[in-house]
Amino acid sequence: MPSGPHGLRALLNNAGDYLGQRVTLHDITERKAAEEEIRRLAHFDPLTMLPNRRLLFDRLEHAMKNSERNQQYGGLIMLDLDQFKKLNDTLGHEMGDKLLLQVGHRLRDSLREVDTVARLGGDEFVLIIEGLGSHETMAASRAEQIAEKIRDALARPYCLDMQQEDEHLYTASIGLTLFRGQHTSMENLLKQADVALYQSKDAGRNRVRFFSPAMQAHIEERAQLENALRLGFARKEFLLYYQPQVNQYGQTTGAEALLRWQSPERGMVSPAQFIPLAEEMGLILELGEWVLHTACQQLKAWEAHPQFARLELAVNVSARQFHQPDFVESVQRCLQSSGANPARLKLELTESIVLENLDMVVERMQQLGALGIRFALDDFGTGYSSLSYLSRLPLDQLKIDQSFTRQLVQDSATSAIVKAILAMSRALGLQVIAEGVETLVQRDFLESQGCYAYQGYLFGKPMPISHWEQDQA
Ligand code: C2E
Ligand code: MG
Ligand code: MG
Repeated sequence: MPSGPHGLRALLNNAGDYLGQRVTLHDITERKAAEEEIRRLAHFDPLTMLPNRRLLFDRLEHAMKNSERNQQYGGLIMLDLDQFKKLNDTLGHEMGDKLLLQVGHRLRDSLREVDTVARLGGDEFVLIIEGLGSHETMAASRAEQIAEKIRDALARPYCLDMQQEDEHLYTASIGLTLFRGQHTSMENLLKQADVALYQSKDAGRNRVRFFSPAMQAHIEERAQLENALRLGFARKEFLLYYQPQVNQYGQTTGAEALLRWQSPERGMVSPAQFIPLAEEMGLILELGEWVLHTACQQLKAWEAHPQFARLELAVNVSARQFHQPDFVESVQRCLQSSGANPARLKLELTESIVLENLDMVVERMQQLGALGIRFALDDFGTGYSSLSYLSRLPLDQLKIDQSFTRQLVQDSATSAIVKAILAMSRALGLQVIAEGVETLVQRDFLESQGCYAYQGYLFGKPMPISHWEQDQA
């Protein structure tokens, strides 16, 4: 029998007369199945069978239109599992998939049929809840209840391996935002939920965080500062200040180079305000290299002046900078291109640097030490201060943090700590310098306990190089 396309067959009688068409049901179901399959692939996540990003956008559009019509609030929830990557790495992807499946089920079970649970990929899930009422605070508290319910549901133990009875515990961080009507774009809503999720992780995970305009303002401010920092670096708005370091006779033995940002819009910005952000942005790498380079050039310039030729320069190094694979080379480059004497350069490390991968840190310090560079441990006493790492590090100097110096004399516990630090340093053969020395009383107390190097307003504030040279000449 002749068979046309699309499963249509012509019906003919024995004489060959055309009687009509017969539609083969079988072919249609096959085609329908294929279409269904394509639709499924295009709209659902193959692992959990939950809607994917594409279908999520459809549903969200729909939900926002509904909300426009009925003036009821809806909520968008974004969540991810805490430490999912660790599970994947330690137990394997198969276990990871099992967990995601169970999470998908629990999410589905926690919501009503009309609500959407989608998986964006990885361990990231997005939920749309509708019909939260038309009163904002009521809607917010309902949405929060739902989010908390979800958090509880996900925090129950998981059994990932049927053979074993082992139960695993996982938690989720949850970000939440509300919408009414179509005032914001879908992309923006997702971004808000993401910002809230980020905040919940930041606040320590396993919690629900609401997106708020204040949060938005904070994020925007940060983004602006980031831009300004980048631009400022390109426009060469950074400079180094120098603060004297003196010995027990009041002679200047060197200086600490302290970064300043002279912003045309913001004025003189303290490094405490921008160093952490520059670290996060990665700008600290270029900035840190610039600081080192400028400091080395300054050392070289001092060599030509008899009264400055013996000064040492201490330079702060951030954790991210120190852990860069080519950190040793970049210091070498600065020394070579400036021609500075490495023996006059001191790098200030913080305890946070040292805590991460001690073996590698020791090796790097030895490589740099072989060039003649020396090391000080900055802000000593504020961090974890483990004595076992102290004895392993090739350090030259400890800097007693200014929070101790400030409380010296008036607080007997602080005085005792400082005495102990000094005794320990003597035993380890380390020099000690006290930061933040503001009064003679502090200075004299330090000296009486065996600390013979000082830095602080008592001896000089951080100042630009022009002042420094007038001051010290
Ligand atoms: P730090 O390395 O502990 O520097 C000492 C800080 O104490 C400086 O603040 C200095 O101005 C301040 N200070 C010095 N003497 C006194 C005093 O007698 N009283 C008081 N109250 N404060 C005093 P500054 O310059 O604002 O720097 C803050 C921090 O920013 C530095 O702390 C350092 O951790 C970081 N920093 C500065 N420059 C750089 C840099 O070039 N690279 C990196 N990675 N960090 C830097
Ligand atoms: Mg320092
Ligand atoms: Mg310090």
